[in-house]
Amino acid sequence: MVKPFSKSKRTPVRLRHKIEKAGSAKKRKERKLAKQNPQWRSRLKKDPGIPNLFPFKDKILEEIEEKKRKKAEDAQRLRDAAKSKKSAGKNAEVEGEDADEDMQDDQGDLSDEDMEDDEEDAADSSNLMAALLASAQVRAADYGSKGDLADDDDGDGIDGGVQVSSNLSADNRNPDSSRKAFDKVFKQVLDAADVILYVLDARDPEGTRSREVERQVMAAQSGEKRLILVLNKIDLVPVEVLAGWLKHLKRYFPTTPLRASTPASNAQTFDHKQYTIKNTSETLLRSLKSYAASKQLNRSISVGVIGYPNVGKSSVINALTSRLNKGVQSSACPVGSEAGVTTALREVKIDSKLKILDSPGIVFPAAVNDENQEGKQKRRSEHEARLILLNALPPAQISDPGPAIKLLLERMSASPALYDKLLQHYGIVALGPFGRGDTTTDFLVQVARKRGRLGKGGVPNLNAAAMTVITDWRDGRIQGWVEPPVLKIADDAEMANGATTEVGPSADQKIIVKEWAEEFKLDGLWDGTNNE
Ligand code: GDP
Repeated sequence: MVKPFSKSKRTPVRLRHKIEKAGSAKKRKERKLAKQNPQWRSRLKKDPGIPNLFPFKDKILEEIEEKKRKKAEDAQRLRDAAKSKKSAGKNAEVEGEDADEDMQDDQGDLSDEDMEDDEEDAADSSNLMAALLASAQVRAADYGSKGDLADDDDGDGIDGGVQVSSNLSADNRNPDSSRKAFDKVFKQVLDAADVILYVLDARDPEGTRSREVERQVMAAQSGEKRLILVLNKIDLVPVEVLAGWLKHLKRYFPTTPLRASTPASNAQTFDHKQYTIKNTSETLLRSLKSYAASKQLNRSISVGVIGYPNVGKSSVINALTSRLNKGVQSSACPVGSEAGVTTALREVKIDSKLKILDSPGIVFPAAVNDENQEGKQKRRSEHEARLILLNALPPAQISDPGPAIKLLLERMSASPALYDKLLQHYGIVALGPFGRGDTTTDFLVQVARKRGRLGKGGVPNLNAAAMTVITDWRDGRIQGWVEPPVLKIADDAEMANGATTEVGPSADQKIIVKEWAEEFKLDGLWDGTNNE
């Protein structure tokens, strides 16, 4: 019997509530802190495992172990089979054996293996796939080396796409391979086209322009070919910058502004009033049509579209063809924000007098003629950084994005307003070489923190941060452009002192510009309607 006035050992309700409250407050705090920590955590709940009290726990664990072992064995078998097939394929290539024979042999091998071991079905199917792949590669290489531009025989307007060469997706970082790709694609387009639309990026027209290309077009077929500069992506530069570039480029070749496509989401764009997608593409189409009509040939005029990867060549063609379809979005050519979407020459028929050729982007080769290896490597890295900022390299081909970010910061620092906007875009308050790092590293560390590009243990992943910046730059979310050159004309006094003016176009070039612009009815076309 309980003694009267004895002290109960039971936890008082008040204390229990206090403990419960403290417990839930602690959990709440932990949850809040976990939310603030940007480090990636799996949402999957951890498997609690089999309870110890379960009677068949040992048996179940054994079964699981057995399954795991079998799976690992299967995977290993498939890997070995693929490896042996790969090496066999390589040998076949070296010996120059016929691809068909290869495949038959492989299949023969497979049937033997089948007879030997029925259990290796999975491995066999992988062998077959590997054999098919090897044979397809041999055929592709064979076909690619021919690289001829076939005609659109079926007359359906859009050529199925003619593979030019399997190495066109060649490494643009490497000036040697980009030279080869350039020679191949450009020569083919030049041979096939009467008019070349040379698409330039309004953010850096001179960076996407090559004098060699212009020289070759003018020299081809004793000057019969025509070249028009198309300044694309004008929505990404302000009005005065566009006006400056148009003025500059029009001194060399007939030039027309174009908005070929709508910008990427969240892009920082400028309003150019009259220069809409409809107006600019209609004007270009009208010019091409009037040129084709004036030539009065009994064949159609071919218009080749060339330019760096990602300047918007396919978008230009789609903009032109959608005008034919009364503004209905056209997808005659595949468009993508990554470089290297167009990998083959394509022919798009506009009407009986006009057809357009879409070509893979060509990176105009840079001369890398440094004598020593170190200098060569440095020049290559600079070339790659330049290409990245021209959006001409697909992300997979970017070996080191660091130098490109350094170059971007250098270029942006020339304009304090743009530099500030760049920092604002990432919510960076101040940038400086803090600690032991340089400005580029500091910038990337801050971007990584702001955008949650953190690796294990919360360490900033600078590579991922750099790729984020490059994508933002490519899609116009970061504002930036190259200022147009200011034409300096020396006055009489300066001339008397022997001062030289900026080397501009020659007298011949001026005549060419005038004549060609008249042929295309481009002369003074935008003068009354632009928004200067
Ligand atoms: P190609 O590789 O030269 O054929 O380039 P694409 O036609 O595939 O276009 C590359 C990227 O540029 C795509 O993401 C297009 O949406 C974009 N683009 C094309 N034209 C314009 C334009 O006038 N303005 C803007 N902001 N983006 C454009």
